[in-house]
Amino acid sequence: MRVVMLGPPGAGKGTQARLLQEAVGVPQISTGDMLRAAQHNGSSLGAAARRYMDAGQLVPDEVVIGLVEQRLQAADCTRGFILDGFPRTVPQARELECLLSKRGSGLDAVVAVEVPREELVRRLSGRLVCRDCGAMYHASSNPPEHAARCDRCGGELYQREDDRPDQIAIRLDLHARELAPVENYYRACGLLRAVQGTGTQDDVFGRIRASLP
Ligand code: ADP
Ligand code: ADP
Ligand code: ZN
Repeated sequence: MRVVMLGPPGAGKGTQARLLQEAVGVPQISTGDMLRAAQHNGSSLGAAARRYMDAGQLVPDEVVIGLVEQRLQAADCTRGFILDGFPRTVPQARELECLLSKRGSGLDAVVAVEVPREELVRRLSGRLVCRDCGAMYHASSNPPEHAARCDRCGGELYQREDDRPDQIAIRLDLHARELAPVENYYRACGLLRAVQGTGTQDDVFGRIRASLP
């Protein structure tokens, strides 16, 4: 199964992509996670990406496309993948189509997770992420059992630099502008499945599963 998860920051793409990965057995590929890992490793790509990410801006298309192209060649992607946070621009969407068609394949569905803006702000301002395994928590609605530690791996939980209140509004505005053309692109080729992203994680997961072929 080859699926793309679309949605604004805080929509729950990462949370849902991880649930889908467990249920279907194909890897979740998050460009945000890959870029944060590159920063953590001290690579030059990571350093170049940092100034865009900390400012809530998109990293240039060539950089992200290069990362995804390489990742899709890995053996674990032969049965499919769940792309989370990519594509975010129309050039990225075109490039993905090109990469897949070269291998004689294409996407099965594009899930657009929709959540009202005030709920996005609430989710992002309380988001906590595990430094080791990337698991997502929320300070009030989905807190870890032990403060500041991951339930799954014991890793340290932290607040992302771009989840500070001043950055959240900037990111939501930017992503709203970038996302609409990508949604239109996939609507035009009949792949788009709009899914309501409110309610519990299980509610949303049920809707996503029902929307997939
Ligand atoms: P969120 O979970 O809030 O939607 P991500 O973790 O997906 O955010 O991405 C964090 C940041 O990484 C983005 O704000 C952007 O700077 C960069 N990034 C991630 N994916 C892409 C992409 N496909 N194109 C450009 N920049 C990206
Ligand atoms: P995205 O990858 O789209 O930016 P995340 O999966 O990181 O979104 O989720 C953003 C925040 O919202 C996290 O703190 C997460 O725990 C929380 N969250 C995810 N799904 C739900 C939900 N259905 N209801 C309430 N909070 C949620
Ligand atoms: Zn963890």
